[in-house]
Amino acid sequence: MSELNLILLGPPGAGKGTQAGRLRDDFGLPYIGTGDLLREHKANETELGNQAKQYMQEGKLVPDDLVIAMILEKIEEEGEDGFLLDGFPRSAPQAEALAEALARKQRELTAALLVEAPDKVVIERISGRRVCSAGHVYHVVYDPPKHDSVCDQDGKPLSQREDDREEAVRKRLSVYHETTEPLIDFYEERGLLRRFDGTRSVTEVHDHIRATLATLRLEERL
Ligand SMILES: [Zn+2]
Repeated sequence: MSELNLILLGPPGAGKGTQAGRLRDDFGLPYIGTGDLLREHKANETELGNQAKQYMQEGKLVPDDLVIAMILEKIEEEGEDGFLLDGFPRSAPQAEALAEALARKQRELTAALLVEAPDKVVIERISGRRVCSAGHVYHVVYDPPKHDSVCDQDGKPLSQREDDREEAVRKRLSVYHETTEPLIDFYEERGLLRRFDGTRSVTEVHDHIRATLATLRLEERL
């Protein structure tokens, strides 16, 4: 079987995380979320984690090499058949550095999967979310609770996360556009970008991604 070395891109609320979960189940690929990876290393006090902690304590960004080292280690441990990378790279120079690091391990990306949705859709999806303190999630339009502002499962009051407020979502989107658009161009120029319409249903997007990956594998064999 050929490797599936994949990067996930897309704005918050486009369904990237849901698709990642499905792909993990379909192909048995490890999901490498760089936020989790960093937390894991810090919690386990690994050498890389301790180095990262030091930068953070000094109020500095964790250098790209350090993040890439964590990613490569994870790929070597679990990513024999491929991986799903989420949260890194976030800029074209990071993408370049990652490509070089993978090449040193005789690996290369298979594709960058971009799950897209217009800002308007993202704002509507995220700002409509309501959660209870146990983490049950509703949407005021698409998945409303039976009784207003109360969780169906445990009767706890529902509220809106600070991060989900419209202003906060707009801010996240503007950061996303600024940083990710050059990245999209980077992968497009290298013929690695595959676009998916995140306004479609989860199953439709999933089917489209699966079909695309199947085609990529066929092409590889020719
Ligand atoms: Zn609940």
